[in-house]
Amino acid sequence: MATTLRAVKGMNDILPPDSARWEWLEEQIRSLMRRYGYANVRTPIVEPTALFVRGLGEVTDIVEKEMYSFEDSMNGDRLSLRPENTAGVVRSMIEHNLLRDGGRRLYYIGPMFRHERPQKGRSRQFHQFGVEALGYAGPDVDAELILLLRALWRQLGLVEGSDIRLELNSLGQPDERQAHRAALVDYLTAHAQQLDEDSQRRLHSNPLRILDSKNPAMQALIEAAPKLSDFLGADSLAHFDAVRAVLDAAGLAYRVNPRLVRGLDYYNLTVFEWVTERLGAQGTVCGGGRYDGLIEQLGGKPAPAVGFGLGMERLLLLLEELKIAAPAEAPNVYAVVPAADALPKVFAALETLRAAGVSVLMNAGLSGMKAQFRRADSSGARYALIFGDEELARGEVALKDLRDAAVPQRSLSLDKVADWAAELLNA
Ligand code: ATP
Ligand code: MG
Repeated sequence: MATTLRAVKGMNDILPPDSARWEWLEEQIRSLMRRYGYANVRTPIVEPTALFVRGLGEVTDIVEKEMYSFEDSMNGDRLSLRPENTAGVVRSMIEHNLLRDGGRRLYYIGPMFRHERPQKGRSRQFHQFGVEALGYAGPDVDAELILLLRALWRQLGLVEGSDIRLELNSLGQPDERQAHRAALVDYLTAHAQQLDEDSQRRLHSNPLRILDSKNPAMQALIEAAPKLSDFLGADSLAHFDAVRAVLDAAGLAYRVNPRLVRGLDYYNLTVFEWVTERLGAQGTVCGGGRYDGLIEQLGGKPAPAVGFGLGMERLLLLLEELKIAAPAEAPNVYAVVPAADALPKVFAALETLRAAGVSVLMNAGLSGMKAQFRRADSSGARYALIFGDEELARGEVALKDLRDAAVPQRSLSLDKVADWAAELLNA
């Protein structure tokens, strides 16, 4: 016997009935995007490796250790499965010169790939809903993205504050971060004897990471370290204040978290995360921020931009945790067919019904009448259409109300299917 083949570790099948939850969530997102005026983009899953190295930065977790990269065996090109989609969307906008006449509000839903250790809320193929607003400098768009996410939580039935909450920070501009970093290195060097071994090592490679140390002996030192917020100039502060003013006026509570830096090089000014306490360690459902330098860095005419990426698996896990289910989708009609020779007439009627929008299930060939009625009941269908011999001989079909046994069965004319289709649809 041939060995059985299995999916790649960390890459999951999405199967019924779970796939129905995915479709429902995707529909919720698409309707949200229509209401906010965002257009859909679909860029390739495979991109040149150089795009991500240039876009995300060489010394990021993603580029250093999480990317699926390979050589195209046909021509030797270095390619990668996309680990995120901001770089791809920006590449595409530059390539097609789509930023020439103002801004673009875009969104995508699709798979991303990162070679990480699979665990709850973390897989190697996962899916993101992402938004990129390209060509907009104003804090209004930062606030718009945050508020449209709140609208999504509300639409899904999540309670902001207890189920999911917002963390916010400003990273200022690169020169402001540079000045802060220099002050931090000075400060830490002056207190080098208080640093633990790990932090000694990081002092010159990655001093910001020292601030993440959990070592209790170093907390006082960290607490007193120079803060980035003290290095922000007037423009950066004004931008942050303007974002906060909109959120405050909208009644959205948030926490300003000076430790929130996000993992990628390209962010500046506003950064944010929507986090939940209900998913354990993988509690960041959505992260985003401004990346005004990226378009130029990838070879485009300088233009500001802001976006976010939301982990679909984590959002679905959160909904499951909170017992928020997609509304059940029962068919309108279940067709019960006693004899196979009726099928040509049955199909004629069902095709007309389906063309009119009525959802119809049928399993004529699989089972006898009793089994078909059992399936009709468990399908949740409102009606059974029974294509019995006698009715068919009269050019009719019997309609039975499956949810209300008191309603008498009645006969409908097969010549006028289109006339009663609407009634079945709206019932
Ligand atoms: P984390 O800190 O959890 O690794 P991240 O900062 O790497 O997250 P981003 O690059 O900001 O994540 O991606 C945006 C969102 O995509 C995350 O907030 C998360 O919901 C989701 N996500 C990221 N990596 C994975 C993964 N390996 N599996 C499932 N979801 C993921
Ligand atoms: Mg990560």
